[in-house]
Amino acid sequence: MPSDELKNQIRNAYERAKKLVPDFKPRSSQNLMIAEITKTLSNHECKNIVIEAPTGVGKTFGYLISSIPYAKINKKKVLISTANIALQEQLLNKDLPLARKYLDLNFSYSVAKGRSRYLCVRNLINIVEDGNQELSQNLALFDEKPSEFDIKNLNKYLNNYSTQNWDGDFDSLDIPPSDNIWSKISCNRITCTARNCEFYQDCCFFKKRKVIKESDVVIANHDLLITDLINGNTVLPEMEETILILDEAHHLNDRSLKHFKYQFSTENMKTVINQSTAILNKLKSLIGITNNNFDKDGFLKKISELGSISQEQHFEDDRVIFSRELIDKTIVSNLIDININFQALKTIYFEVTDKWEDYKKTHSIKNSERENLDVLILDNVAQIDSILIGIERFIKRSDDEEAPKAKWISQTNQHPDKKNFVFNSAYINISQNFESLIWKITHSSILTSATLSSLGNFNRLNEQLGLSKEIAKYLRLPSPFALDKVNFVIPNLQSSPKNSFEHTKEISNELIKRINPKEGTLVLFASKAQMEQVTENIEDKLDVEILMQGEYQKNVILGLHIQRISSGQGSVIFGLDSFSEGIDLKGEALSHVIISKLRFSIPNSPIEKTQSEHLQSIGKNSFSEISLPDATLKLIQACGRLIRSENDFGKITIFDKRLISEFYGKKILDSLPGYNIVIED
Ligand code: SF4
Repeated sequence: MPSDELKNQIRNAYERAKKLVPDFKPRSSQNLMIAEITKTLSNHECKNIVIEAPTGVGKTFGYLISSIPYAKINKKKVLISTANIALQEQLLNKDLPLARKYLDLNFSYSVAKGRSRYLCVRNLINIVEDGNQELSQNLALFDEKPSEFDIKNLNKYLNNYSTQNWDGDFDSLDIPPSDNIWSKISCNRITCTARNCEFYQDCCFFKKRKVIKESDVVIANHDLLITDLINGNTVLPEMEETILILDEAHHLNDRSLKHFKYQFSTENMKTVINQSTAILNKLKSLIGITNNNFDKDGFLKKISELGSISQEQHFEDDRVIFSRELIDKTIVSNLIDININFQALKTIYFEVTDKWEDYKKTHSIKNSERENLDVLILDNVAQIDSILIGIERFIKRSDDEEAPKAKWISQTNQHPDKKNFVFNSAYINISQNFESLIWKITHSSILTSATLSSLGNFNRLNEQLGLSKEIAKYLRLPSPFALDKVNFVIPNLQSSPKNSFEHTKEISNELIKRINPKEGTLVLFASKAQMEQVTENIEDKLDVEILMQGEYQKNVILGLHIQRISSGQGSVIFGLDSFSEGIDLKGEALSHVIISKLRFSIPNSPIEKTQSEHLQSIGKNSFSEISLPDATLKLIQACGRLIRSENDFGKITIFDKRLISEFYGKKILDSLPGYNIVIED
């Protein structure tokens, strides 16, 4: 049960918020959200809660007013993880400063970024101090030679950092370096010597980490959260002591999947071998070793052979997917040989670096030279290890009782005459990882978003995130808006969206009739090709200019649209997926949302294809398990663009007759949030 102290603090904060929060309106669904979060935080049995809070509920206020007082009283931290920068900025610049006032609490907050966004001043100093000639040599051990411009900039970065005109954050650089250069001077988990580094006290990453450690509230994103948890929770607050708020929780699975993927490529292996040779030669010449050679040419030949065998595979759209992890035997046997070669290289490395360690103790070497070499060695060995793990994951088949991994080779053209083959192995379901990394560990987790359920239940979310009624509570809050006043119109079209040509032609004609040139309209397409074709078909026939995604940046489109509406004109936006979420066009800025068709994802990517194949193999249907719930969720999100406040109005039109004609149509319509369904004759 929540303590009286906590209840009083929240009640008092709520009273203050009535005066301090602009346009504050008491909302029963928000009150319910606050009460349920407070109960969950104080409950030691069920510490995770999933809250679907539609637009207008005020979910940010709901979780801030309940979690921060609890955290302060109980000496916990609040970590808010989001999926987009706009929400992070809103929390940082608007919601948290305001929360300080209505909570009347002195709490600190900061934004966390990954290590690689910060400068490693030791590496920068060593590279710059080593002199331009050495600098070129050292960097040349890696990918591309730095240009004069790069070298000039590196000196400038160092100067600005030393004079405190730059804080070491990549995002605050006016002229950022290339990825190749930044990777040599950024903070890196493998090469950082932390407290043993002479620049530790002046290191921007560790200074920032201290700020994060001392902050009561930390803002992060799902990518950083998962990376940090996989790497031992060294950047973000300790999960055991943290109330984790996962805002936009519907993105947690897709943002996390890419961190459970392993990769290596033929070109990357060749680069690593060349780097190893260069580093070993340099060490040997310094120490005076003449033996310990390895057959570099033979090794490179093996990798070229792997490229040739890969090329013989049946590539479709530049990739070949190995169904049920059945990889061509010649590829496997070649990879086993390559694995043995890399192991042998590592053994030579250890022998030489042992001698290098002894040599350092007895000889005086310029600091920068020693540290630069040490960084190169650590980095190179880490790359060898990553290749070894990649090979092992690629060739090892999953156990019978676990879901298969997606395995595929993709081909890219690095240069016109140089093909690169990338070997990939990825998990198709990471639900168990969430359990061990998050649900069991955190003090409490609050998952929220405007759309989390699909087809009226949380099954899809549970299946993706490994949640269940045993470990989580669920809450679906009603919309505070009068959605029954919104017409959801299904025109009586002749064409089916399955027939792309006819459908594009028909919706072009419909749009000419249905777009009011004096209003704010958003037309959402499922494919770029259809959007462009429709634009071409109708742009000369509409009395209003189309703002099409791709022709301008998203923020430029939104700015122009609002400008036009504010000056009394109409405006039409044509957009794809990214306009279905995170768009907040209030009042007159949007009175008609038009959706070209339902967004059924076709299992296309290797992960989706493997998922679909796996479901079939265990007697399930990928359409009803994945495509249908995902399409419903996307439709609700797209519709959600229309009503953003009490004063909003308008209608939604969808050009997809499958909502009427197909068996699943009723299920989708039943799960819409209370719109007035209008089926045209
Ligand atoms: S502490 Fe680590 S990241 Fe910071 S300067 Fe030293 S080596 Fe680089």
